[in-house]
Amino acid sequence: MNNSITRFAPSPSGLLHVGNARTALLNFLVSKRSNGKFILRIDDTDQERSKNKYIDSIKENLNWLGLKYDECYQQSNRIKLYDEAFDILKAKGLIYPCFETPDELDKKRKRLITRRMPPVYDRAALKLEQDEIKSLLDSGKKPYWRFKLSSKKVKFEDLIRGDINVDLAAQSDPVIKREDGNYLYNLPSVVDDIDMSITHIIRGEDHITNSGIQIEIFNALDANIPIFGHNSLLVSENGEPFSKRNAAASIEQLKEKGIDPNAVNSLNASIGSSVDIEAYESLDLLADKFEISSLSKSPARYSNNQLDKLNSQLISNYNFDQISQLIKDKNNIFDEEFWDCIKQNISTLSEVSDWIRILNEPIKGDFNVEENFLIVAQDLLPNEPWDLKTWDEWISKLKEKTQKKGKELFMPIRLVLTGKKNGPELNKLILLMGYNKVMDRLKRK
Ligand code: GLU
Repeated sequence: MNNSITRFAPSPSGLLHVGNARTALLNFLVSKRSNGKFILRIDDTDQERSKNKYIDSIKENLNWLGLKYDECYQQSNRIKLYDEAFDILKAKGLIYPCFETPDELDKKRKRLITRRMPPVYDRAALKLEQDEIKSLLDSGKKPYWRFKLSSKKVKFEDLIRGDINVDLAAQSDPVIKREDGNYLYNLPSVVDDIDMSITHIIRGEDHITNSGIQIEIFNALDANIPIFGHNSLLVSENGEPFSKRNAAASIEQLKEKGIDPNAVNSLNASIGSSVDIEAYESLDLLADKFEISSLSKSPARYSNNQLDKLNSQLISNYNFDQISQLIKDKNNIFDEEFWDCIKQNISTLSEVSDWIRILNEPIKGDFNVEENFLIVAQDLLPNEPWDLKTWDEWISKLKEKTQKKGKELFMPIRLVLTGKKNGPELNKLILLMGYNKVMDRLKRK
């Protein structure tokens, strides 16, 4: 593939979730592997459902994922282009006005269903004579517009699913423009794909029928047909459709949870494919290995556990430079020694921030630790300078004096020093704290 131009075309009516991020990633990787272009297209012709806050968060999320787009367009700014295409199709007799109310359409649909027939629009409006249309318009009725499909079977070769056949005879002529003048999805999408010279359209399998319809529109506008690839939709681990209830994770949520964007991308590139799930430290490494042909028709199983695993695997292997780029709330605590100390005990990015906080701010909480034990520990705390052996020296004196051992010996110290039962090795942690801080914490200050 040479210089592929791809696009990700979200509708800004909600937050981006992992499934959307997967479609964006696939398009990004296809363009990246061919030194092409990746375009962000905001599908906001539906004024009612589109919200600016979602546009902002989609852009922010793509940026967080590292899916850098080369160009960005918003459909609401491009209506003139759609009007032009609309006029061309109308002049060719491929678009026709309709006047049925939603209620009438619903009745027609129900009648067909009762007769066990496919609920396909009967094209009643196509049979209206010119003078009937005129009198409807004169009486103040506003039309909505449909595109006239052929009754052909549209065939195309899908990058992921192989040969596809869409039987247009089984489809209603799609509504192109609503009564209020707003365009629905199909025409603007095709017009933009033509205008932006899109070579590859990778999108969810729920768009397969739309692709059949759109191929007719591409043809009607005398344009080249892009290559299509329909990726399988995400399902939860037990194969149920992915939904808010079972696993849906918005990118915002994952970000908040401290997930590394590389983990999301690594998982998204390998689920629903023939390759093993592997942790990639960067999109460049991922792009080197990625082959769209490895994607399969079978559902892509998304698992939070798998994501967590990839996440901790990636994070604990990062060197200081890599982790520095991912941590926003850095301060003087955050240095190479700190990272060396905590990295093996970290599975999310927010845990890094937790440990920055633990080392910085006084530890609160009542841990039910014997006061006398802490006093002895204070008395025996060696003076600085400290090194990696200091902890052992201190703790063996404490053992001798108190006759405590194992957990009973070190857990109270861990609790008052960190407020947690688990964490990095204490021989390293106390070096990061230094004498004064350790002493203050032993005194519960
Ligand atoms: N806005 C459509 C969606 O979010 C775009 C589909 C496409 O990629 O053409 O489903």
